[in-house]
Amino acid sequence: MSSNLRMSVLAFVLRLFFAPPVAGQEPPIPGFPPIPIDATEEQVRQGVALVRAGQKLTPKAWPNGARLAVCLSFDVDNELLWRRTPLPVPLSQGEYGATTGLRRVLDLLDRQSIPASFYIPAMSAALHPQMIQDILQRKRHEIGVHGWMHENLSQVGDAAEEEKLLRHSIDYLTKATGKRPVGFRAPSWAFSQSTLNQIRMAGFLYDSSFMAMDEPYELLANGQKTGMLELPINWIADDYPYYEPEASGSLPDPQLVLEVYKGEFDLAYEEHTMLILTMHPHITGHRSRIAALEKLVIYMKAKPGVWFATLEQVAAYVKTQEQAGRK
Ligand SMILES: [Zn+2]
Repeated sequence: MSSNLRMSVLAFVLRLFFAPPVAGQEPPIPGFPPIPIDATEEQVRQGVALVRAGQKLTPKAWPNGARLAVCLSFDVDNELLWRRTPLPVPLSQGEYGATTGLRRVLDLLDRQSIPASFYIPAMSAALHPQMIQDILQRKRHEIGVHGWMHENLSQVGDAAEEEKLLRHSIDYLTKATGKRPVGFRAPSWAFSQSTLNQIRMAGFLYDSSFMAMDEPYELLANGQKTGMLELPINWIADDYPYYEPEASGSLPDPQLVLEVYKGEFDLAYEEHTMLILTMHPHITGHRSRIAALEKLVIYMKAKPGVWFATLEQVAAYVKTQEQAGRK
């Protein structure tokens, strides 16, 4: 290879790995062919059809006349976010979630007497088994599935392997908690071609990985009803983009993050829908951020008619209302 050619290959490879992806210009993902600009309308429809939003499932009324449901959820990823680059110092950022962050989160929930949902990759629990005991001890919280190793399901590349990881994750948490988990949140919110079908087959009550609405809805698979209830999440109501690591240098101000969350809550309150916050003990568990989260909880609690619930409680309620409505 000539040195010129070598340089241009090197430049290409560097660009591939280090150029920041521009929205809509990311490299194609195996199994998900891009929709070309000359695609027909029908091809465009097919290109977006794998998982779509079906009907809204927000109940006509929330329990006890509440105006909305509020769910605090925590993805206990800890060290596994650095699984691909396990250098000791970055790993310690994740370890913080187990040594310090989770305790602060649980203490806050105790002080405010509210429940929360925790999504825990099996291997994250294996590194710190005490976490599950500490959550269960409160007798108020939910534990849901968040992968085996925080694997990105769109990159597993093999449906059988993916199914095996899902089965092992469910078995692990069932054994560790004494209860089969009913909630699924995809690691990195990534689905493969098979994920929706697999979580249906596994009998999950709900999924919490999609963003097509900000109230409960049914997932459609290639235009067909699936019966799978979606309790949607959103990057806006997630601590990650504000605090880690993309926020590096932008002085993420917990008070400003608090304002965003408040804005999300205020309109959900007006619209009588729901608010799901997604946080991480290793991120929000830091001192200044926990303080801001507690301010938010106090703000929400001061309003009448706020139902603080786990996603499992919301899902069970939505399902009952849906079935009652069908009769
Ligand atoms: Zn995660």
